Amino acid sequence: MHNIDIGLVEMTLDVTKYAIDRITRTEPNLGVPKKEEELRELVGETITPKGIGGEKAFELWNTILSKAAVSIDHPRHLAFVPASPTRASIMFDLVTSASAIHGAYWMEGAGGIFCEIEAMKWLVSLTQMPKGSFGVFTSGGTAANLSAIVAAREYWRSKDSQNEELKGLIITSDGAHSSVKAMAKVIDAEILLIRSEEKLLGTELQTTINDLDSLQRQRLFAVVATGGTTNAGIIDDLDGIASVCEKEGLWFHVDAAYGGGALAAPSVRHLFLGIERADSVTIDPHKWLFTPYDCGAIIYKNPELAKRAHTQEGSYLEIFKDDGAVGFNPADYQIQLTRRVRGLPLWFSLAMHGTDMYSEAIETGLQLALDAGKLIEERTELELVRDPSLSCVLFRRKGWSPEDYREWTYRNHKDGVALVTPTKWKSGETFETVARFCFISPHTTQKDIQRILDTMK
Ligand SMILES: *Cc1c(COP(=O)(O)O)cnc(C)c1O
Repeated sequence: MHNIDIGLVEMTLDVTKYAIDRITRTEPNLGVPKKEEELRELVGETITPKGIGGEKAFELWNTILSKAAVSIDHPRHLAFVPASPTRASIMFDLVTSASAIHGAYWMEGAGGIFCEIEAMKWLVSLTQMPKGSFGVFTSGGTAANLSAIVAAREYWRSKDSQNEELKGLIITSDGAHSSVKAMAKVIDAEILLIRSEEKLLGTELQTTINDLDSLQRQRLFAVVATGGTTNAGIIDDLDGIASVCEKEGLWFHVDAAYGGGALAAPSVRHLFLGIERADSVTIDPHKWLFTPYDCGAIIYKNPELAKRAHTQEGSYLEIFKDDGAVGFNPADYQIQLTRRVRGLPLWFSLAMHGTDMYSEAIETGLQLALDAGKLIEERTELELVRDPSLSCVLFRRKGWSPEDYREWTYRNHKDGVALVTPTKWKSGETFETVARFCFISPHTTQKDIQRILDTMK
């Protein structure tokens, strides 16, 4: 290991300078990937017995490797779900790493976990879930969904010993995120997708449940609704679904990984009516709450049920359950043991800016989607596929084939103009390839949108 020497101090300054430059740049490089062989040719061997030296490795990162990755906080990165971490949260991401805090147990991580608790209280307040509801930060929406569904399944099995032998069944809609299906695979549960053109309705859910045979009905333990589909920003009929789940005694999970940020936006908050009745809610601060990767969150109405499912036992862990170490242990409420205090960057940014600034920044994303809708309607060659929902806009270039969209995507990316990708939208029985914008960054402008639309003439 190196001693603290003058070279290391210089290296620290260089790296800090890089970080400062990166977070103060208003328009970062868009970045374009290269083939792995190409990159290897450009950088040569980097892992050697003696090391290539920090200066060299850093230069390779700075000049070659960092440019081969997309900066997804670029104002014209409107593909997938973009990101736009605040400078405050990025700075505190650096602090989180430098502080070397183990975030699994209060005994070790108290100060950091305290900050996570403060930030989590705000998230819980956005959902308006009842007193006693609480949650933890996870690596993302996938881990949050998995943690919730494991808690749901364990609860279902604990209610009736017959259930222990049964394969669980989950109902969701075909608009649900791919991670919901992936997570069902992980826990070997079956998933039943309700086909819905738009939002999933409570009445559709009820009909589906009524059509199950008696064994299927016994195997059914959870319903997953989406609070803002990733593809189109559609929010399911959460209130109607909550009523069905209550009546049928089912765990009601809301996946608001992308849309959850909009709970802080007064103009659309009413669309989430019913989320307060959920048993668990996923929200990804690393999507629409301006936090660096990776930061998801899972909130439970009854955290005790999550604890029953997730507490890990082990002789070397017993001290953490001791009275002398009493406090909130994030490890008990999700699938991960060792964890960074990944809610800390969000806490610092919230503390610094206040929650009003978050509401304003999210409203800006919503407004950008409405503005984009108008700009699209003004152009004869373009038309909206559906009205903008949350910050998603689906639109078509009249006469374009899937191949045209594909070429357009690559051309814009290669030219450094923008990264905007196509998606598919069902029209009747078939799927149509269309263009999609998703707005997160409050730094995107109407000019940016026009510039992209100009590439579709
Ligand atoms: C992004 C997303 C996920 C997955 O979250 P990760 O943070 O990528 O693991 C799950 N559900 C929805 C609705 C999402 O938008």
